[in-house]
Amino acid sequence: MPKQITVEPRSFQVYTRRDLDRIPQLQRFSSDELWAMKAVAQVLPFRVNRYVIDELIDWEHVPDDPMFQLAFPQPGMLPPGELDRMVDLLQKDATEQELQHEAKRIQRGLNPHPAGQVELNVPHLDGKPLPGMQHKYRETVLFFPSSGQTCHTYCTYCFRWPQFVGLDELKFAAREADQLANYLKAHPEVNSVLFTGGDPMVMKARVLRRYLEPLLAEELDHIVSIRIGTKAPAWWPHRFVTDDDADELMRLFEEVHQKGRHLAIMAHYSHPRELSTPVAQAALERLQNAGATVRCQAPLIRRVNDAAETWADLWKRQIVLGAVPYYMFVERDTGPRHWFEVPLARALDIFTVALRRVSGLGRTVRGPSMSATPGKVLVDGVAEVHGEKVFVLKFLQARDPSWVNRVFFAKYDEQATWLDELKPAFGEKQWWFQPVIKMMKKQGWQPSWGDRSRVRKRVTHFGHVEWE
Ligand SMILES: *Cc1c(COP(=O)(O)O)cnc(C)c1O
Repeated sequence: MPKQITVEPRSFQVYTRRDLDRIPQLQRFSSDELWAMKAVAQVLPFRVNRYVIDELIDWEHVPDDPMFQLAFPQPGMLPPGELDRMVDLLQKDATEQELQHEAKRIQRGLNPHPAGQVELNVPHLDGKPLPGMQHKYRETVLFFPSSGQTCHTYCTYCFRWPQFVGLDELKFAAREADQLANYLKAHPEVNSVLFTGGDPMVMKARVLRRYLEPLLAEELDHIVSIRIGTKAPAWWPHRFVTDDDADELMRLFEEVHQKGRHLAIMAHYSHPRELSTPVAQAALERLQNAGATVRCQAPLIRRVNDAAETWADLWKRQIVLGAVPYYMFVERDTGPRHWFEVPLARALDIFTVALRRVSGLGRTVRGPSMSATPGKVLVDGVAEVHGEKVFVLKFLQARDPSWVNRVFFAKYDEQATWLDELKPAFGEKQWWFQPVIKMMKKQGWQPSWGDRSRVRKRVTHFGHVEWE
């Protein structure tokens, strides 16, 4: 028998930048500090719910508390000049229009679309672009359901932030679930669909059902796994336990599982505290009872989780609760990265020390991994080759599938925080994949593996249809 956890229901109550003065716990800050917080919240997304405020943040230790850093705007997130200008505008009661104008200008300076997300990854069907999807890696399609473009609480470092702050022309909104199913029917090389956002778990069960059901059709038997990327298990675990439609949601998940699909909840856990509350543990238990596998991933963020003990503790708790450590990401080159970034050398160190402290069960995790333009690049280690100190890098994912699992070398650099700051080792002028990436960019690349004629159907020993 699973242990029984009793959880009191809670109603979802959320605060945004206009409500900062209504959060009692913020009274401990000076008025200058509050102005700065409001100014940052004009530019970067801010939204926090009551559960996070009451149960995850340790208010005795703000502003250093990692959960506080994760959810609340910090003055250091904007360049000092920009911060002062924004505070000034707020204090002299500038119009909403003036504020928006200024905010957008600052946002544009913060690299809102890293890794060629807009130009390179939008798939096409019958010659028309499908803006609610990304198909960067052959096996997996990312899907952004239009009703899942917000979150229960925003993370201050979010790289999807342009979606929330109203830069309409850049918003990846899905038109409909139909398009997704049609695209997948035309693409037998895809075996995994990853719902992402925002957070798809802000959707009601009946809305989510509209998206999931078409994927269970027999014609889509090549879809082996359906993944849902979400931070709800951390920010709002009640979603799975006491919300009105939590039971209905569990039935939907059971159905996906019973239809022979692997359902993976790709849970974003940044800190062990997020797993410490009874409701967070109950959520995991319910998800697993419904047949879902919970896999865990998060970026390494300065001031939030940049210590080996934090990660070792996080992975151990995940193992205890039956969840699987999956990825440690490097914070992307966007938004207030100067505030959060950790050099790759230090990230590798934190990862390695943490990895040593868990058994092999926790070593399913891979990292530190950068989701960069050519692919997911793992910083796999440091080595010395013929007297030259190098980073050993490896493609975990790549735009060209033949690059997957290939290692390559960069000059060791203690300061570098992203792939574009690294130089190829051994005197090479450029990375071997660079000419191909350039060509892809120039040709508005649509990958050759989307071509049905190049994919062969095969019926396996077990009667499953596979495509190769
Ligand atoms: C990470 C990622 C995926 C999934 O990669 P896995 O290695 O299968 O987890 C798919 N598409 C994009 C664009 C990604 O960044």
